[in-house]
Amino acid sequence: MKNLVLPSLRSFAAIFFPKLCPGCMNPLHETERVICWVCQLSLPQTDHPWDFQNELWEKMNQFGRIERVVSLFDFHKNSRVQSLLHQLKYKGQQEIGEFLGNWIAPQIMASKVFSEVDAVLPLPLHPERFQQRGYNQVQKFSDCLAHHLGLPVVNDLVVRKKKTRSLVKIKNTDRWEEVDNAFAVKGYQNNTFKHFLLVDDVITTGATLSSCANALLEACGGSISFVALASRLS
Ligand SMILES: [Zn+2]
Repeated sequence: MKNLVLPSLRSFAAIFFPKLCPGCMNPLHETERVICWVCQLSLPQTDHPWDFQNELWEKMNQFGRIERVVSLFDFHKNSRVQSLLHQLKYKGQQEIGEFLGNWIAPQIMASKVFSEVDAVLPLPLHPERFQQRGYNQVQKFSDCLAHHLGLPVVNDLVVRKKKTRSLVKIKNTDRWEEVDNAFAVKGYQNNTFKHFLLVDDVITTGATLSSCANALLEACGGSISFVALASRLS
């Protein structure tokens, strides 16, 4: 009896509280999971997994040597991508990270863009922010990528020691100062990894990722690559 009642209760709930697509906020069809088909077909995907010297790579290499740089989508204001990232970051919808990880992983494996990487490192939040939010918005994406690539996830090597303001509210020229010395590397003496893949949600100026990369390179040496869910070049 229990088995018959539960599914019907679920369908009943789905009529009144349908799950919404985080990209367009329309109700998901029962055959759709996490992101609707319309959004999936219209999200502005980049060709970064195949174009190793893409524009974002060029931009990030102005600030120091970064091996490979991949962003899954182009970021535009008031877009489906912005909505997706907002739901992931502020509304607890962590399944979006896993969904996007499963989306990009086959491309990354086919292109071998990160074939030299030996560890995946999600950009850490400041402990206070982590406590407020309850999760790191790039953790699931990082875990999923690492799983597909057969690599370990490193969560305890880098800490965010400076509680930076949201960079969205800061002028581009001041962002570098805001994140300067924001990260510290703990226990680097025992580190054996040689090429970290740093993971962030959005790359705009690149200041945060570069600050973390510099801290890691200074402490551990080796090489760094970046992957992000979205990027805005201007
Ligand atoms: Zn949608």
